[in-house]
Amino acid sequence: MNIESLLNYQNLDSELFKIEQKISASPYRKKANELTVIAKKSQTRSTELEAEAEKVLADIADIKEKYEINKKKMDEMLGEKVDDMTIEDIDKASGLRAKIVSNLNILEKMLQKAAENVNRILAEFNKAKKTFDDARTQFAVCKQKIDEETKSSEPEKEKIRKQLAVLEKDVEPTLMAEYKKKRADNIFPVIVPLEGENFCGRCRMELPKVAISHIKEKGMITCEHCKRFVYKK
Ligand SMILES: [Zn+2]
Repeated sequence: MNIESLLNYQNLDSELFKIEQKISASPYRKKANELTVIAKKSQTRSTELEAEAEKVLADIADIKEKYEINKKKMDEMLGEKVDDMTIEDIDKASGLRAKIVSNLNILEKMLQKAAENVNRILAEFNKAKKTFDDARTQFAVCKQKIDEETKSSEPEKEKIRKQLAVLEKDVEPTLMAEYKKKRADNIFPVIVPLEGENFCGRCRMELPKVAISHIKEKGMITCEHCKRFVYKK
């Protein structure tokens, strides 16, 4: 097995890996992820506030209806002629009137409180909407930056890919296929040297004795723990 050619390949591939890492570690990408979370949160809050507003508006309609009933009753009573009433009736009517006045006062206060609630909900809703809009605007800026970074790295990446394609010809196809599969799974470096007599050069896990004898026979093995190829220098 020609390990040297695979090491050569990996050596150049590490340049490509570095560029990929740099792009994925871009602060714009991090910021874009944060903004997505913010946008989602403010959207959820807006939906909650909408439901809250609906409930308060229904309450207001209910209060107004009750107010109208009491008001109508009061108007009726004011229209009644006291002359036709007995003392007892007058007493009763005045008691009822006092009750209605108290009802109207309570309902007015409830209405005022509900109106304050509507204002609070509206203010919070506007705030949530602004947060959402701001996050979306900033996200678009980040997205553009990320695209620019990706695009500007493309010529260099393409150059390396072309050189890799040349180096690939010296590597056994099955080995190359396995390498690429691991690489696609974000395992890098894919091939590492044996450390000491029996440790994986990457994850430092002790390799079984039988694996060590395989290294001597085949030139390399796969670490069971980190899935990397391990070779003896
Ligand atoms: Zn390992």
